[in-house]
Amino acid sequence: MKFQLDHDFHIHTQLSGCSNDPEQTPQRVLQYAKEYGLKTVVLTDHFWDELVPGNFGWPGYEHISKWLPLPQEEGISFYFGGECDMNMAATVGISRKTAEKMDFIIIPTTHLHFPDRTIAAEEYDDADARARRYIERWEAVLNADLPFHKIGLAHMTCPLLSGGYDRIDFLIDILDSIPDDTFKSMFARTEKLGMGVEINVDTNPYTPDRLERILRIYRIAAECGCHFYCGTDAHHPRDFEYGHQNCLRMIDALDLQEEQKFNPFNR
Ligand SMILES: [Zn+2]
Ligand SMILES: [Zn+2]
Repeated sequence: MKFQLDHDFHIHTQLSGCSNDPEQTPQRVLQYAKEYGLKTVVLTDHFWDELVPGNFGWPGYEHISKWLPLPQEEGISFYFGGECDMNMAATVGISRKTAEKMDFIIIPTTHLHFPDRTIAAEEYDDADARARRYIERWEAVLNADLPFHKIGLAHMTCPLLSGGYDRIDFLIDILDSIPDDTFKSMFARTEKLGMGVEINVDTNPYTPDRLERILRIYRIAAECGCHFYCGTDAHHPRDFEYGHQNCLRMIDALDLQEEQKFNPFNR
């Protein structure tokens, strides 16, 4: 059976500084779930666990847990998660203790758009350095002490890896510089630990050839037996439709099947 888009595991609310939208509330997320027939939705606001030193400016767990308890609606499972980050030393900003309290956590290896916070300023235009940091951060996640069954690797081909959405060509250069074998060994370990891989790609800026080079990464993940979940990364109500369509296009492009779906819940 074809992979059903019945969930969204990457959604921000007004508690994320980059949203700051009074309309983006748990109630509004629940309404979105209802409108799109989603069965499972997860809040993933940005945070850095207070128990882990090395925070470079994110709010703590205390901040994002303000929404608890989440409103519920029959037929929809609404879970509490978060998007943590990693610093220049590739420290993962969440402890096992806090992770145990949460339903789901996403970790981005691609937040390399913060000069001197996640990447050295002199490395900003250096494709090799960016590729190295990307793999180093991924490696750090694999080596962390975390409940991997409820961890997802967020937007692995996001343009933030190249420093921003206006640097798409540079993003392709960086990803192209990483050989298949490197991705194979990293995804094999990701799969072995039971982590999910996020499908969250804005397909619109890419020509078919460039999109194919983005898809290479997910095709290797699939080949390694990884499981996938979708995320819109919505920051505002207007992002839901856009993100939903992108997810549908990715499911088709990768020909994802239902048995490839990541399910961190009901275990
Ligand atoms: Zn992110
Ligand atoms: Zn996000």
